[in-house]
Amino acid sequence: MSQNSVLLVIGGGIAAYKSLELIRDLTKRNINSRCILTRAGQEFVTPMSVAALSGDKCYTEIFDADDEVSMGHIELSRSADLVVVCPATADLLSKAAVGLANDLASTTLLASDKEILFVPAMNVRMWEHPATQRNVEQLRKDGKHVLQPEEGVMACGEFGLGRLPEVGVISDTIDLLLGKRSGNLTGKHAIVTAGPTIEPLDPVRFISNRSSGKQGYAMASALADLGAKVTLVSGPVAIPVPSGVECLEVETAIEMNEAVQRSLPADIFVGVAAVADWRPTHCADLKVKQKGESQVDFSISLKENPDILHTVANLYEGRPDLVIGFAAETHDVLQHAKEKLQRKCCDWIVANDVAGDVMGGRDNEVVVVSKYGETSWPLLSKVEVARRLASSIVEHFTQGELADE
Ligand code: C5P
Repeated sequence: MSQNSVLLVIGGGIAAYKSLELIRDLTKRNINSRCILTRAGQEFVTPMSVAALSGDKCYTEIFDADDEVSMGHIELSRSADLVVVCPATADLLSKAAVGLANDLASTTLLASDKEILFVPAMNVRMWEHPATQRNVEQLRKDGKHVLQPEEGVMACGEFGLGRLPEVGVISDTIDLLLGKRSGNLTGKHAIVTAGPTIEPLDPVRFISNRSSGKQGYAMASALADLGAKVTLVSGPVAIPVPSGVECLEVETAIEMNEAVQRSLPADIFVGVAAVADWRPTHCADLKVKQKGESQVDFSISLKENPDILHTVANLYEGRPDLVIGFAAETHDVLQHAKEKLQRKCCDWIVANDVAGDVMGGRDNEVVVVSKYGETSWPLLSKVEVARRLASSIVEHFTQGELADE
C-alpha cells in the first residue's frame, strides 16, 4: 500500500500533547507525518519528542539557513498530501483566515497548494467569540476544512465547546480527506431535524422544551463527514452549524414541517428535533396582560401540531429510503419505542431515556429499534451516538438492513 503523508502543524495549546498521539495513530494507519511546531507549541511539547515519534526532523524556524537549503517553507508546504493543523489555536485560525505570514507555520499555510484541515482546541469563550467564529466561517468559505470541537470540561476547568475531538475521529477525517476511506454516503441527500420548536402565545411568550439540538447537530455533522449532502432543519439553538451542512432555521413546528417538505426529495430522513406536540390555538397580537389574582385560572387552548416524522414516513411518492425517528421517553422506553415505530411507520426508532440530564447534556444512551429487532448501545457522547448511527446508515445502504453490532 502506498504511504500517504501529512504535514502536521502543531499549535500552542494544552491539547498539543495529543498531537503526539495523533502522529502514532497516523503511523499505525500507514500515514507519514512531517511536523512543524510553533514557538508556543514548544511550551507544551518538545521538538525532540515530535521528531522521535514522526521519525523526521521537527521544523520550528522560518529563517533557518540549513532548512532553506534542504527543505524551505515552500517545499515544506508542498511536501505532503494534506496539511493538518492540530491543535489549531485561535491565533493560528486568525492568522490563516486573514493570510498573515509571520512565522514558519503561518507562512507554510499561506504557501500550501494542498487541502488544509484545522482541528481547533481552545477555551470555550475563545471558541465562541464572534472573532473566532468569523475566522472559522472565512476559512470554510476559502475551502478549508475545520473540524467541530467537542464539548466537555476543559483543562482550565470551564465547561463547553472547545475540546480537541478524540484522536480516532481526527485520524478518520484525515483518512477521508486522503481518500483512503470513501465517503460512503456520497450522492445521498439527508434531511435532519434538530432542536426544539417554539410555539408563540403572544408576541413575547412561547411554549417550548429543553432540547439543545446537540444530538441533531452531531447527526448532521456525522452524515456530512461521510459525504452526504445534508439539510439541517433546526429550531432555535445556541450551537454553530457543522461544516459542510446547509441549515434552514425555523421556529415553529409548522415552519419546520414546511422546510422539510421544501427540502425533499431525500434518501435519508432523521427526525431528531423535539417538535412541540401542541401549539396555542390562538397567538395574541398584543401581549396578554395580567388580570390580578382574584380572576379565575387562566387557561391556554392547544391544538395538535403536524407530525413531521409521520408525514415523511407515510409519503406515497418520494418517501426517503430510510426514515429514522428519535423517541425521548421518561419511562417504559422500549415499549414506547416499538409502539412508535409502528404508529409513525418509520424504519428505525432511536429511543432514549430522558429522565436524567440527557436533554441539554453531552451524553446519551440509546436503543436502536427496527422491525428486525433492537440494539442497545452503552452510554456514549452524542457525537459518538451520531457516528455509530451514521455507520449503521451506511451499512443499511450496503447491506439492506440494520446490521447487528
Ligand atoms: O411522538 P414523539 O414526539 O415522541 O416522537 C418523536 C419523534 O417524532 C422524533 O423523531 C420527532 O422528531 C418526531 N416528531 C415529529 N413531529 C412531531 C412530533 C414528533 O417529527 N410533531
